[in-house]
Amino acid sequence: MNPATMNDIIEYSKKHRVGVGMFNIVNLEFARAIFDASQETGLPVMLGMPERFILNYFDGEVMAAACRKMIEKSKTLVNIHLDHGKSFDGVMYALKAGFSSVMFDGSALSYEENVRQTAEIVKIAHAMDVSVEGELGYVGQVGDEMTEDRFTSPEQAEDFVGRTGVDALAVAIGNQHGQYKGTPKLDFERLKAIRSKVDCGLVLHGGSGIADEDFVEAIRCGINKVNIYTAEDLAAKACVREHFEEYKQYLDFTKGLTGAVKEVVTRHMQLFASLKE
Ligand SMILES: [Zn+2]
Repeated sequence: MNPATMNDIIEYSKKHRVGVGMFNIVNLEFARAIFDASQETGLPVMLGMPERFILNYFDGEVMAAACRKMIEKSKTLVNIHLDHGKSFDGVMYALKAGFSSVMFDGSALSYEENVRQTAEIVKIAHAMDVSVEGELGYVGQVGDEMTEDRFTSPEQAEDFVGRTGVDALAVAIGNQHGQYKGTPKLDFERLKAIRSKVDCGLVLHGGSGIADEDFVEAIRCGINKVNIYTAEDLAAKACVREHFEEYKQYLDFTKGLTGAVKEVVTRHMQLFASLKE
């Protein structure tokens, strides 16, 4: 099978009322764990790589090629996604490397500049059959003050999607990246208002740490894709910490890491499929 586009994933999400997980990968153990979770649950999945990872920490081209090879044997929809592309060059790098969808995060730009740059990327990516996710509003990092003026405006979302042609939109409704202090409070009324204004896929970033019932409610209100990374990162670190002494003697590190990530990913995938039809 070829890697699925984000539009294939969104279509599946809408048809089956399933929130599809995008899980970031940092190495092949993570990729394998997420791929296996998808094969075992029969649910689609997105393998995400943030721009700062592929430009600074590992070779995105090599990783995308490895993922494509793995996906050849897939029985489910599996996508290769650029998460938080922040620069034109970073997005072009991902397109050349064979990613099947890209996010361009222009949320730090002025509104008009976000529209202009996102529309330009949509034009290029669509010509290559690659879907695009944009971001409107400020998701931010833990510790940032989340006031409503930073949340996504439903009216602006309608204008943004219409003018850029994005296939999916990341929304800010009280969600944040990283490890939350306490349980975040999501603005479901705002989410419903955004859903009523746009037809494209809606994305919830900063998923790790949101209460289980809130994930399900967010999917009920129109979220199609949920981004997870912190939960995987914590599971991988806990596994290494717990088995550190054993790993000194045996070469079970890869097996342990893959197992720990697969477990946390499977749990999230099944939760996001709670409303499955
Ligand atoms: Zn994000």
